[in-house]
Amino acid sequence: MLRIFIKPELCAGCKNCQVTCLAEHSPSRSVWLVNLSDQGSRPRNFVELNNEGQPVPLSCRHCDEPECVNSCMSGALYKDPATGIVAHNPEQCAGCWMCVMSCPFGMIFPDARENKVSVKCDFCAGRDKPRCVEACLTGAITLIEVPSSNIDGKYPNLARGE
Ligand code: SF4
Ligand code: SF4
Repeated sequence: MLRIFIKPELCAGCKNCQVTCLAEHSPSRSVWLVNLSDQGSRPRNFVELNNEGQPVPLSCRHCDEPECVNSCMSGALYKDPATGIVAHNPEQCAGCWMCVMSCPFGMIFPDARENKVSVKCDFCAGRDKPRCVEACLTGAITLIEVPSSNIDGKYPNLARGE
């Protein structure tokens, strides 16, 4: 299975990953047409400064035992057994925010425009490679192949690269 792997020491803080995430989930999917001042639009990944002032890319870990899935009573969140991707079906989402409160990493949040359903990384469903991975020019965000079980045990704090 493929997972996003973060090497924070390579991050330049350019936020290309955020912009391309915004673009991928916009109607045009184009970085040229995405409206960066649209308060109703937010990326599903982030770059934040750590205590040393180093930028650190953050993204969903698609956990082996995802708390967001465990907390979702409507079945909107599920883990795809074939890919291990934690996916979200907005049609089934009740907007109760249990997942938002349950994710230990703060990587699922209410939709900024409607505030009715939650949104999270979908691994850029339908693409061979997530846009953030393609957009990262320094190699701070890459894809790695991981075993199909015990991912978090074998690669603790995978998405932070720790
Ligand atoms: S949203 Fe949070 S709990 Fe759910 S898979 Fe991603 S990191 Fe894990
Ligand atoms: S907000 Fe939606 S996805 Fe999250 S727990 Fe509630 S129903 Fe499930």
